[in-house]
Amino acid sequence: MGIIVQKFGGTSVGSIERIQHVAETVTKAYKEGNQVVTVVSAMGHHTDELVSLAAQISPQNSKREMDMLLTTGEQVSISLLAMAIQAKGFKAISLTGWQAGIQTESVHGNARIEMIHTEKIQQLLDEGYIVIVAGFQGLSDKNEITTLGRGGSDTTAVAIAASLNAERCDIYTDVLGVYTTDPRVEPSASKLSHVSYDEMLELAALGAGVLHPRAVEFAKNYHLMIQVRSSQHDEIGTFIGEENQMEQQSVVRGIAFESNVTRMTLNGLNNHVDLLPKIFTLLASEGIDVDIIIQSVTSDNLVNLSFSIKSENMMEAITILESKKDYLGYRSFDFESELAKVSIVGSGMVSNPGVAAKMFKYLAESEIPVKMVSTSEIKVSTVIPKSQLQEAVHALHKGYELDRIQEEVTLKN
Ligand code: ASP
Ligand code: MG
Repeated sequence: MGIIVQKFGGTSVGSIERIQHVAETVTKAYKEGNQVVTVVSAMGHHTDELVSLAAQISPQNSKREMDMLLTTGEQVSISLLAMAIQAKGFKAISLTGWQAGIQTESVHGNARIEMIHTEKIQQLLDEGYIVIVAGFQGLSDKNEITTLGRGGSDTTAVAIAASLNAERCDIYTDVLGVYTTDPRVEPSASKLSHVSYDEMLELAALGAGVLHPRAVEFAKNYHLMIQVRSSQHDEIGTFIGEENQMEQQSVVRGIAFESNVTRMTLNGLNNHVDLLPKIFTLLASEGIDVDIIIQSVTSDNLVNLSFSIKSENMMEAITILESKKDYLGYRSFDFESELAKVSIVGSGMVSNPGVAAKMFKYLAESEIPVKMVSTSEIKVSTVIPKSQLQEAVHALHKGYELDRIQEEVTLKN
């Protein structure tokens, strides 16, 4: 008899009807002879509603009290799901994060799970219970209630699955799996049968949004296979696992994008070793996240420096750079907003030269100017005009033949 961990997101438990549907899926797995742990998020947009309630008091509330407030969302959904399962004649019990033994670091709002004391869950499973655990929450060693960051229920599920040595961890959500790109932007996007941990980490970091990045990190560290699948349709979703367990058909596996990018450029800086730490420490101290950085040295030994940031940080960045003109010592400064970032991701790039060249060719053929570029072993990102984002996604999706992907689940032993 194996242990199966299932996680259901907010939409999947958004109404009593949906909760009853979840109860059906959970009890089906139980009837098949498995021990079942189910992790749930708060119902629908409940967490957002709690956030806006607090915002009516102050834009900046105490992080401890925010955690106290937000963790109530999951208490509603776990108890209702336990009742729905009991109503079907099964033994079910709901547990908060702390009752389930989830110990986190002592940070409010974005805590990491340190360990899970699994004795209680294991004992309840052995007594025949279906165990329902509240996602997104834990307890620090100071006995304070903590949360794992928005979307953190995925991480709860994966961490529990890893600690219990579960056979499977299924993440049920409102899409069929992980797609080659966002189907709302590119209608020919198709579901991938499998994605490697590294590809998923890149996709999650680049905004693909299907999984909490820390959940993927956890799964990777513990070699746990995750399946992302639909809570509405009973079909196989996307498996996320080791690269070498999977037959990859295409070098580029997915296209991710972000639409609110601004480029800032400082011209004529003095070429000194202190220059980069000075600028980027200043921006970091104001909480401004810098993404792509390009530096070039001119023939008269001056430095031109461009970097990209999120457009929401633009005004703040301009104010800082202007107020520190003398300290930083640049000659002129300009910026360009209304930009977007589009990235191609695929583990196969490591051993296939020419992938980036093709990307530039496809963009050029659609007359899309590339403003900035950054690469890693398994991704290439370009910054382009926001007005041409959809066109770019389409050109790349077609160019790399992602519209023709016909994947079968082929897992090697
Ligand atoms: N309910 C939390 C949120 O909305 C956690 C989660 O959904 O995973 O962020
Ligand atoms: Mg989520």
